[in-house]
Amino acid sequence: MIIRGGLLITAAGPVPADLQVAGTVIAAVTPPGAAAPSPGEEVFSAAGRWILPGGVDVHTHFGMPLRPGVASLGWRESSEAALLGGTTTIIDFANPEPGESLAQAVDRWLAMAGGACLCDFGLHCTVSDTAPERLAEIPALVARGIPTFKGFLAYKGRLMLTESQMGLLMTGVKAAGGMLLVHAEDGEMNAAAEQVLLATGRTTPNWHPTAHPPESEQQAVARCLALALEHGCPLTVVHLSLEDSLAALEAARQRRRDGGPDLPLIGEVCLHHLLADDGLYRSGHESALSALCSPPLRPPRHGRGLVQGLAAGRIDTLSTDHCEFPLAVKAAAAAGGFPRVPNGCGGVGERITLSYSELVRKGHLGPDRWIEAVAAKPAEIMGLSGRKGRLQPGYDADIVCFDPRAEGLWQPLGSSDRAGNLYKDLPVTGQVTDVWLRGRRVVDRGRLCGDQPGGEFLPRLLS
Ligand SMILES: [Zn+2]
Repeated sequence: MIIRGGLLITAAGPVPADLQVAGTVIAAVTPPGAAAPSPGEEVFSAAGRWILPGGVDVHTHFGMPLRPGVASLGWRESSEAALLGGTTTIIDFANPEPGESLAQAVDRWLAMAGGACLCDFGLHCTVSDTAPERLAEIPALVARGIPTFKGFLAYKGRLMLTESQMGLLMTGVKAAGGMLLVHAEDGEMNAAAEQVLLATGRTTPNWHPTAHPPESEQQAVARCLALALEHGCPLTVVHLSLEDSLAALEAARQRRRDGGPDLPLIGEVCLHHLLADDGLYRSGHESALSALCSPPLRPPRHGRGLVQGLAAGRIDTLSTDHCEFPLAVKAAAAAGGFPRVPNGCGGVGERITLSYSELVRKGHLGPDRWIEAVAAKPAEIMGLSGRKGRLQPGYDADIVCFDPRAEGLWQPLGSSDRAGNLYKDLPVTGQVTDVWLRGRRVVDRGRLCGDQPGGEFLPRLLS
């Protein structure tokens, strides 16, 4: 197949070029019109449109079981939204239950995704138990292509690790050649704030951000960066929500340059922390429920500062933390007080289009940096170099045809109940029109194709 006449958006800038696809991979990138189709070869005209590498969202929670009877939106619906929104690769998190081995949790996640997920997927593995037998599993997971692990400083009594446990985990991950992802909020501080709120009858969802104060994130970000430098462990601080967190990351990078260990210190931001703010907690019960996520939405100046950080490359990647619960599920849980409400927002379907219309079209982010943040960098950082995130010969033919002039109101993607969507009233410019996954057409003029190849598990190797 030849995709002809489009403008390729690459991390090095826009280039008019044709793409030749052979089987599942990109065979060549040639000057416009230079490649002659062989007899019977399909030629797709992309005139007037942009050609992007398939999006790579390295932070999702598809079909995440939270407690009996409550799970986030499933793998099929979430991956449909991903493809329709131009994201062809996701990395999700396997979360062991208490007493479950890491390998068992990974097998459980692979079973949930297998046959259901329509986009390609990798897995990170959460570690909330630092017993020697759990840490001893880390090298085997790295060998299975799961080189990234997650530790929490938040969620006291469930997932939270103490500072010394976090140090043990970092030592194990570093020794195995892996990388640690940290949810940086101080679980003790959040629990104390929550206790005061509940004791004084402040139990409605609008109090959620008060139980997640900025100081909690600031302290935890500083602590995990210091621990990473101390233990020499490659680190991604996930979902930075404060300008101050970015400043702490920059300070740690400076300490590294000043003679600290040479290791990756990665910053991730998620769509909702850029495009939504804490005004939603004061805009009625439903809005507060939709916006109930951790870290919470912050005052607008933080979003503006994080966009600047993303534009300058000080923040590396733009993910979603997609973890969507139907509004009705959140509302039912809210009757028991805000701490009972499942945390999370959607976004996997919205990420490419809304970051284009709100950031690129409005001049905050160049197209080259945009595509680097939503595809090239996340793939490279998470061990998918050579396969995902770029339009280059030998890479998987994951290709998105994007119309930068399309206008309209945002339409929720996928077949799901997406009433809780944070962005449902946002006007959009730009639209994903056609998508290929490993050379197979999966979205045709904005609609899912009936015949889907299905997603593959992606073993990853950090470079
Ligand atoms: Zn998450």
